[in-house]
Amino acid sequence: MTRTPSAPQPLRVAIIGAGPAGIYAGNILGTAVRATGGEVGIDLFDTLPAPYGLIRYGVAPDHPRIKGIVTSLHEMLDAGTIRFLGNVGYGTDLCLADLRRHYHAVIFATGAIRDADLPIPGITLPGSYGAADFVSWFDGHPDVPRDWPLDATDIAVIGNGNVALDVARMLAKPPADLLSTDIPANVHAGLAGSPVTDVHVFGRRGPGQVKFTPIELRELGDIPDVDVIVYEEDFPRDADSEARLVASSNQVKVMSRTLNGWLTREATGASRRLHLHFLHSPVEVYGTDRVEGMRFERTTPTGDGGVHGTGQILDYPLQAVYRAVGYRGSALPDVPFDDARGVITSDEGRVIDENGMPLPGLYTTGWIKRGPVGLIGHTKGDALETITHLVEDLALLPEPADPAQDAILRLLGERGIRYTTWPGWLALDAHERALGDADLSEVTRERVKVVPRDEQVLIATEVALVSS
Ligand SMILES: Cc1cc2nc3c(=O)[nH]c(=O)nc-3n(C[C@H](O)[C@H](O)[C@H](O)COP(=O)(O)OP(=O)(O)OC[C@H]3O[C@@H](n4cnc5c(N)ncnc54)[C@H](O)[C@@H]3O)c2cc1C
Repeated sequence: MTRTPSAPQPLRVAIIGAGPAGIYAGNILGTAVRATGGEVGIDLFDTLPAPYGLIRYGVAPDHPRIKGIVTSLHEMLDAGTIRFLGNVGYGTDLCLADLRRHYHAVIFATGAIRDADLPIPGITLPGSYGAADFVSWFDGHPDVPRDWPLDATDIAVIGNGNVALDVARMLAKPPADLLSTDIPANVHAGLAGSPVTDVHVFGRRGPGQVKFTPIELRELGDIPDVDVIVYEEDFPRDADSEARLVASSNQVKVMSRTLNGWLTREATGASRRLHLHFLHSPVEVYGTDRVEGMRFERTTPTGDGGVHGTGQILDYPLQAVYRAVGYRGSALPDVPFDDARGVITSDEGRVIDENGMPLPGLYTTGWIKRGPVGLIGHTKGDALETITHLVEDLALLPEPADPAQDAILRLLGERGIRYTTWPGWLALDAHERALGDADLSEVTRERVKVVPRDEQVLIATEVALVSS
């Protein structure tokens, strides 16, 4: 049986993942269905007790401007048309059959949290880390260990995107400069004890081909007590291809100006240095029992945006390596997955089977649909594409056996799942802000994050119970 927009039962939609993609999708869907005169009940699930995905657990703590996007996402969730149900994992607490039973449609917006592989010898040696794990640690993700080994003086960060810059900046920045952020106390203490003196960021391509954004690059030059160092030999002499690259976009032009400025800037004798190396292709991480250094092959531009190896080998003695070569989405049970790309297989957000046929009622959006590239703002257009197709399909959606609004809450209760709610998040949010106010250090702290999952759930569920 299928439905029409004027069907007596309101449309019921489950969204899995309360990151920006899931929230934008819920908001756009609510508006679109109401515009047709229909009603919709949207449940937004997340495996974490708190909403906002990588905004809370990916964006660097010293980028509060970006976290300001949370204000508009907060308003969308506060409007009351989307019901947030946190601490509920798809594939652990709920399966596809459960969702099919209670909803007309399911939208998967599970993002990406794992590091992409860098398949070179030695990459698994102790002292070699994935950027995603380090990011989860400094952002206080509840499911990663609270200790991080910061014992290296010389560190390599592999990658030429913004995540590499976040990692390098967090490693090099004087910890006192992070005190005003929401970092948990153990992260501040860990960074304060770090003996690091030199952080080296390595990219395979030339300075005109970096994937940084200008603001994030320029920001490196403003870190107190850190000298940014670039090397003349990493800037290609091939003036023609360089000029073509620089002319290709405004962003490249701006970054080229920043990098060239650093070429001529005198070092100040700062206590830490952040080196940017280009045209270095990773060959291996070397060391007997742990990381002792990293070997690269010098590359040279091919003139068409690519590079090729020159055979020249360059060794850097180091004690730690962080690979920031991209994130990767994870497969979900009973949902078709493209292993090569790390995304749910879809046609513009309609989940498709191995024959390319849409699976009725299943949709996807955000990084798990498109791959882990692009800024938070990009997830909005992406959600619009997916929801446009869902609305086109309204008459084709399969009718669930038990669409009652509270049926899913009963199921979660029967399974003993301590789910968090929007009022619960408001309580946890207020608690974290109060911790920020209570902090007696000399700086103003907007919030201090609560890290352990149990503690988050306790605060969110206790206060929610008291207030209900
Ligand atoms: C280190 C880092 C820094 C970044 N910095 C910036 C920045 O400064 N500015 C910017 O614009 N963009 C930044 N981005 C990009 C931005 O974070 C992404 O564009 C955006 O978060 C993608 O949104 P999403 O909703 O698809 O995924 P996510 O934000 O990852 O949200 C997915 C949600 O799904 C949940 N989930 C996953 N699996 C399940 C499951 N099985 N069951 C239930 N829930 C599940 C997750 O817990 C998560 O909450 C950064 C990304 C990273 C990795």
